[in-house]
Amino acid sequence: MTRIVLLGGGVGGSMVSNQLARQLKPEILRGEVEITVINESDTHVYQPYFLYMAFDQAVPADAKRPERAVLNNQIKLVVGHAERVDREAKDVVMGDGAHIPYDYLVIATGSRPAPETVPGLVEGGHIFYTEEGALKLRDALAEFTGGRVLVTVGVPHKCPVAPVEFTLMVRDWLDTHGFESSEVLYTYPIGRLHSLEPVAAWATEIFDQRRIDSRTFFNVETVDSEKKTVTTLEGDTVSYDLLVAIPPHLGQDIVKRSGLGDAGNWIATDRHSLLMQGTDNIYVLGDATNLPISKAGSTAHFQADVVSSNLVNRIHGGLGSVRYDGKVFCFIEAGNDEATYVKFDYQHPPKPQPPTEMIHLYKLAFNKMYWLSAAGIL
Ligand SMILES: Cc1cc2nc3c(=O)[nH]c(=O)nc-3n(C[C@H](O)[C@H](O)[C@H](O)COP(=O)(O)OP(=O)(O)OC[C@H]3O[C@@H](n4cnc5c(N)ncnc54)[C@H](O)[C@@H]3O)c2cc1C
Repeated sequence: MTRIVLLGGGVGGSMVSNQLARQLKPEILRGEVEITVINESDTHVYQPYFLYMAFDQAVPADAKRPERAVLNNQIKLVVGHAERVDREAKDVVMGDGAHIPYDYLVIATGSRPAPETVPGLVEGGHIFYTEEGALKLRDALAEFTGGRVLVTVGVPHKCPVAPVEFTLMVRDWLDTHGFESSEVLYTYPIGRLHSLEPVAAWATEIFDQRRIDSRTFFNVETVDSEKKTVTTLEGDTVSYDLLVAIPPHLGQDIVKRSGLGDAGNWIATDRHSLLMQGTDNIYVLGDATNLPISKAGSTAHFQADVVSSNLVNRIHGGLGSVRYDGKVFCFIEAGNDEATYVKFDYQHPPKPQPPTEMIHLYKLAFNKMYWLSAAGIL
């Protein structure tokens, strides 16, 4: 019996396990292969909806399905908090003391925003990267009386374009809710508006057209929630009426507890095979890797194809040599009922096109189709 354990049942974990279950059905039915997903919640969450929730364009139910309903019925689901991975014993130790043995382990535990790493940010800022934060921001916008909306970005963070999307959408929201004279100030830690140079150039142009101000080399050091100011490592102090922060992210604590990652809890991963470096039976995908590519659901999706193909091939006696090419695809909501997209990989940089209504409609449709891709059908 070959035991494949998926640690994390989010985007990457569900896609790999569903693809495996379909392709290995005969082996599963003969009792030769077992696929187990470990997820700490019984609910599968589609995080892109949080952006729309902040503008009251979606509600929490849009973003959630029972985890069991997303998974093929050949897959075993264990709902619970995994405490650590024991590489010696080749098992996952659960919070309740149970041990789940594996022959192959796939780590897809994702990442989390870490606002607590910036003094004052939890008290003073809004963070739409969680359901709770998105709903609080929605309520704050409903009570907004005008002034400066300040957007700050910490790195690394998941969804590379969400800060730009939020900025364009909040400009649109202000303009259509009687706050045309309110200022939107977007800031970014390095010397341009985005880490991807073509996206930075595109954002510079569209921000000019849409009356959005910006500042670069803006690394938030502290937030004073009483005075409503942000102070940066570069020595600037900027006041705000509404602060929306995308905080720096960390990998999950289980990575630290298992001794698998670096200081940020990111796991050293081979950029092509997606094997954890130094191992031949642990794959890593999605936000959890240390790869210098965008942490995005689409990244996890493309990587899931590679990991599942290689596992099926290896179980059938092959070498598992399909390579991940760094492919990422992200829609970019641009406000005004328009959107564009970027597609890139290790070799080819993105080329953002002018936004259109058609792409915005496609993105809205994709949000609904996500449940088919999570189930491994699309
Ligand atoms: C506001 C917002 C907008 C976004 N928009 C987009 C977008 O438009 N396009 C896009 O491609 N991406 C987008 N993303 C990013 C995308 O959601 C993530 O990159 C993606 O979910 C990463 O997939 P993953 O499988 O690595 O992790 P996740 O999907 O986060 O799944 C990780 C899973 O691991 C589980 N887990 C973690 N630790 C443990 C443990 N110790 N024990 C048991 N289970 C555990 C969690 O419960 C979770 O289910 C957005 C994200 C946000 C927040």
